Amino acid sequence: MALTGLDIFKLLPKTNCKKCGMPTCLAFAMALAQKRAKLEDCPDVSEEAKGKLAAAAAPPMAKVVFGTQNNQVQLGQETVMFRHEEKFYNPTVLAVTASDKLTGEDLTKRIEAINALQFERVGTKIGVKAIAIINDSGSSDAFAQAAAAAKGASDLALILVTQSPDAMAAAAAKTKDSVPLLASARPDTAQEMAKIAKENSCPLVAKAESIDALAELTEKIKSEGVEDIVLNLSTGPLSGNVPGLRDQLFNLSKIRALALKKVFRPLGYPTISFVVDGDADTQAALAISLICKYSGIVVLDTVEPYALLPMLTTVMNIFTDPQKPVQVEPKVYRIGEPNENSPLMFTTNFSLTYYTVESDVEASRVPSYILVVDTEGTSVLTAYSGDKLNEKTVADAMAKNSVGSLVKHRKLIIPGYVAVMSGKLEEATNWEIMVGPRECSMLPKYLQEVWN
Ligand code: SF4
Repeated sequence: MALTGLDIFKLLPKTNCKKCGMPTCLAFAMALAQKRAKLEDCPDVSEEAKGKLAAAAAPPMAKVVFGTQNNQVQLGQETVMFRHEEKFYNPTVLAVTASDKLTGEDLTKRIEAINALQFERVGTKIGVKAIAIINDSGSSDAFAQAAAAAKGASDLALILVTQSPDAMAAAAAKTKDSVPLLASARPDTAQEMAKIAKENSCPLVAKAESIDALAELTEKIKSEGVEDIVLNLSTGPLSGNVPGLRDQLFNLSKIRALALKKVFRPLGYPTISFVVDGDADTQAALAISLICKYSGIVVLDTVEPYALLPMLTTVMNIFTDPQKPVQVEPKVYRIGEPNENSPLMFTTNFSLTYYTVESDVEASRVPSYILVVDTEGTSVLTAYSGDKLNEKTVADAMAKNSVGSLVKHRKLIIPGYVAVMSGKLEEATNWEIMVGPRECSMLPKYLQEVWN
């Protein structure tokens, strides 16, 4: 539990010496509790107090990283149950399985299919971030070879999934410079698996069949010197499906609440779920629920793009900072190869608005300029009603981006929803204002018929 200002005050020297820049120790304690001050600002705080305050300040859920540089992924470090309380920090990682029963061309094709699961949505690249190699063969050699093949043929992070410490040791030895996530240590293999994780500097999944057993297991793994742990609560076989979705959601929520609300350190780690049975539709439905509450990683079996895209879209939406609209850079965007006779229009820098306009202008096949006005990431009507979009902001954006040097005509197309500003805008800019359609889906017709 986070310390209150009064808890912190009890640990301070209480001399009110003001060296920290605050009038009293109590004022400093209150500022520290609200994260407006740093402990280092008090030069007289005792070592004992420093230890206690640092422990209390540690995040309730640990950060776990696997993969390297280009393919590194980060999990955990979440601080709230609900996004609106603050924000969620590290997006759920989607991973797809490749069985070590596959060899040669079959394995290559599977890895290529997983690599290809990358998409672009509202200007952001989203995609599968990891390959989970599954030790279906039961052979250590086959597992190590499949892991090595995946490492060589993919930039994605690796998850090594086996119950066998021998197979894990063999595969980890071949891939340790990629820092794979090792899945999993069970209560009976905890010591051996922790040794492999420690020797290869890899994070380790702790897998148990109840929350109590999981808490015991993480303590055991930690006592073996492994700090980076991911939780897997599952009653099914290692590569089997999640338990009933209702139970899984209940358990994941309980783990999260114990970690964040009670600061119960043995459960203060991110989680992994396996959704590898059922058809692509079923996997998509289950995975989306688990992304919402509260899987740090979801491992899937499907490589169907139509099933992956909604899962990735869900991740993108859930992990967007609710206090910060997704924005594009305010500037002039060139669609196609516009010239001095091409149309010029403006829109706002709310990402969804911009990319909708962009795709409709592209569809028109009329090379154009789109001037994006900075409205702090709000849409056209919201910006207009909040006075962030007016004749002055548009005229300023036109001047700042020197739009007069891009086109020799003096015509500006404005969104139909703000037709009301056309008179004042014409006065402010001395440009002819053309009122475009209200719905940008009508832009292709407008550009082809009215502009041309
Ligand atoms: Fe109190 Fe430390 Fe600030 Fe001095 S520097 S007023 S002891 S908190």
